[in-house]
Amino acid sequence: MSSAPIIIIGAGPAGLLAAIAAGKQALVLERNPYPGKKLLLSGSGQCNFTNALDNDDFLFHLRSASHFLKPALYAFDKDAFIDLLAREGCGSAKREDGKYFPETKHSASVRDALYQAAVKSGAKFSFDTHVSSVSKQAGGGFAVKTDKTVISADRIILATGGKSYTQTGSDGLGYVIAKSLGHKIEPLTPALASVDLIPASRFTDCAGISLKNVPIAFCSPQGRIKDRGDLLFTHTGLSGPVILNNAFLIKAGSSIAISFVEGGAHKLQDLVLQEPKKSLQTALKAFALPTALIARILGYLAIDGSQQLAQLKSKDRNLLGAYLQNAVFHVKSVESFETAMATAGGIDLADIRIRTMESRICPKLYFAGEILNYHAPTGGFNIQLAASTGWLAGSSAVLPPS
Ligand SMILES: Cc1cc2nc3c(=O)[nH]c(=O)nc-3n(C[C@H](O)[C@H](O)[C@H](O)COP(=O)(O)OP(=O)(O)OC[C@H]3O[C@@H](n4cnc5c(N)ncnc54)[C@H](O)[C@@H]3O)c2cc1C
Repeated sequence: MSSAPIIIIGAGPAGLLAAIAAGKQALVLERNPYPGKKLLLSGSGQCNFTNALDNDDFLFHLRSASHFLKPALYAFDKDAFIDLLAREGCGSAKREDGKYFPETKHSASVRDALYQAAVKSGAKFSFDTHVSSVSKQAGGGFAVKTDKTVISADRIILATGGKSYTQTGSDGLGYVIAKSLGHKIEPLTPALASVDLIPASRFTDCAGISLKNVPIAFCSPQGRIKDRGDLLFTHTGLSGPVILNNAFLIKAGSSIAISFVEGGAHKLQDLVLQEPKKSLQTALKAFALPTALIARILGYLAIDGSQQLAQLKSKDRNLLGAYLQNAVFHVKSVESFETAMATAGGIDLADIRIRTMESRICPKLYFAGEILNYHAPTGGFNIQLAASTGWLAGSSAVLPPS
């Protein structure tokens, strides 16, 4: 049986950063023929790998997982990430919204830089190698069974990703391996997902329209959730950051209330008094809504947009005002794991040491990346966290030189 001091399972951003930190002690096993298959798809092929928030603001967005992730982020934060990429010849560019991308706008630049750094640090890679199980050996260490052979290792870093976009290699087997080694898995849910609506056709002609900083509210198993953010209409439903970030809490059959115009009822009343001679569809532009959306709302409510505001019947004014303020959409379905961008749920954080990423249940087993039970919003959080936890796991797993 061949052996390696540290076996890292998975060559996504978490596994690559673990390999960079662990150096020549590391052997990375990856089922795909090349590293970072999901990384290549990220950010629509441009890879939004981090953002400009300072560490405390970054952590604020991670809800209950922020305490757990703090040591990892401080060990390898956005500045460390940007510096590492720069050392490997990959410059970074910050967009106006604070998101960081490679200067080339090609995710391959980030992937290649990370792989190059890992190879330079001495890590070895075995591609086309599918790990089917990991078991503890009687004399200590682990036996890692692949589709080709069995390899023994003193330490394991499980960086197999979540369960979404399974065609990239993250099919959820990592959870099965963790469970077999005694770990508890918090229920898995598709995250960063769009929703389809009933009826899908109601706002189809608004597909592509995006609205800034819109308040939404919905009921979830955790109670009534209120949030605000950018919203996008799709051909079959809703997307955009405010939907993607909350998707793990939205269920089929839920209703989402969207406020197109906050205080819409009062504002419409004021408009009628101020601009009585204007046509309704022209006057509504004062609310900074796209023309196509105004037309769709009026069509849906069967209100004639060409009439002057003064002619608007009070019944229609009340109906329109209430809808602008609180339009209710019914969710048919939330995107499945096949197309969701991330997985919420995963390895219970209570069983992992936050300063090392080592298991409390199975010593010498470490975790990194999306396999862990954290949920992060869109905007470079996920890749940064995979990198941070990967770096911490790799640095902690390195054995002192003998
Ligand atoms: C379309 C899309 C766009 C995205 N865009 C962004 C973005 O712009 N910014 C952002 O921050 N996040 C983005 N994300 C999320 C981000 O890509 C992931 O959160 C991140 O890649 C997770 O890193 P990871 O290393 O934990 O897992 P992964 O990247 O999933 O890597 C895990 C690796 O482990 C391998 N593996 C799994 N099981 C085995 C096994 N049994 N044996 C051997 N190998 C195995 C897999 O093949 C895979 O290569 C996007 C996700 C998707 C799907």
